[in-house]
Amino acid sequence: MAKSNSDCLFCKILAGDIPADIIYESDTAIAFRDINPQAPTHVLIIPRKHISTINEITADDQAIVGSLYSAAQDIAAEEGFADEGYRVVMNCNEAAGQTVFHIHLHLLGGRAFSWPPG
Ligand code: 5GP
Ligand code: ZN
Repeated sequence: MAKSNSDCLFCKILAGDIPADIIYESDTAIAFRDINPQAPTHVLIIPRKHISTINEITADDQAIVGSLYSAAQDIAAEEGFADEGYRVVMNCNEAAGQTVFHIHLHLLGGRAFSWPPG
């Protein structure tokens, strides 16, 4: 089992210590609905392994990180917006607005998205 961080909110969700609306689980990742949704569907996809930011991803983590996208693909199909389109984003550090330091893909769908993002 990957090491966890006792101060990390998402490790606490993984441990079941904080409740979450978990909609997907695999050997390497879980996904749950964001508490403050920015779209009709807003899901956070996280690795079971604690990795604090994109900058800490190592070559050994490539399969884990890839599995986050597999989860996004499956959930987009399940939620019904795979063909119309959706957005997947991962924020890194302060300038991008990262607030939880356990990497997570935001999967947003169910509406149109503008570009460039804010
Ligand atoms: P970040 O800003 O780090 O990219 O994204 C963190 C996300 O975690 C935010 O969208 C925020 O709404 C969500 N979030 C923060 N605390 C909780 C929580 O306790 N439960 C859930 N489900 N989402 C959370
Ligand atoms: Zn963590």
